[in-house]
Amino acid sequence: MIRCEEVATHALFRSLGSLAGVEVDLRYAGPHNFAGRVLYEGLDCAWIRTEAAAGLERAAQWLARKRPGYRLKVLDALRPQRIQEAIWRDVVGTPAQAYFADPARGSIHSFGMAVDITLVHPSGQECDMGSGYDEMSIRSHPSHDALHLALGVLTADQLMSRGWLHAAMAQGGFAGIPNEWWHFDFGDREQVRRECPMVI
Ligand SMILES: [Zn+2]
Repeated sequence: MIRCEEVATHALFRSLGSLAGVEVDLRYAGPHNFAGRVLYEGLDCAWIRTEAAAGLERAAQWLARKRPGYRLKVLDALRPQRIQEAIWRDVVGTPAQAYFADPARGSIHSFGMAVDITLVHPSGQECDMGSGYDEMSIRSHPSHDALHLALGVLTADQLMSRGWLHAAMAQGGFAGIPNEWWHFDFGDREQVRRECPMVI
């Protein structure tokens, strides 16, 4: 285990601010998140494992080539176990529980190997993804994208933005999950849980 306070001097981690072509706006570091309050108070969480950092830079480079003017913006990355435990206490037993990993198993965010991320339009605005970050509704579930397009719940433009985000992240070695368009794991999550030290 690594204490969050030690991450800044740890060789396994890189600062999000050092990543070429990647914007950063950690929503849990301010009040603009699902909880409506600062969740990272006093902790510097703008870090990611070096291998995931390299993957993000590859994703950003691919996007810059294929979609000039579009950029990636990280909304959350390293989330220490103590924060995951606090969030879990708030959401357990509520509908929001389905959107957070049980800290007993470990969130991939707590290993520095997951990111929440969106696309930024050349205008500088975040792209319309059809639902907001941490909007805990079925509109956020990529597994239902085709159905939602057919039903008119999501537009072709919104799904195209989700598609470009997914394609860029896949180029960097990241895999999405069925119920959050914004969440991506680097590599295999069970291997991460077995082999990577958790940040507490
Ligand atoms: Zn996430």
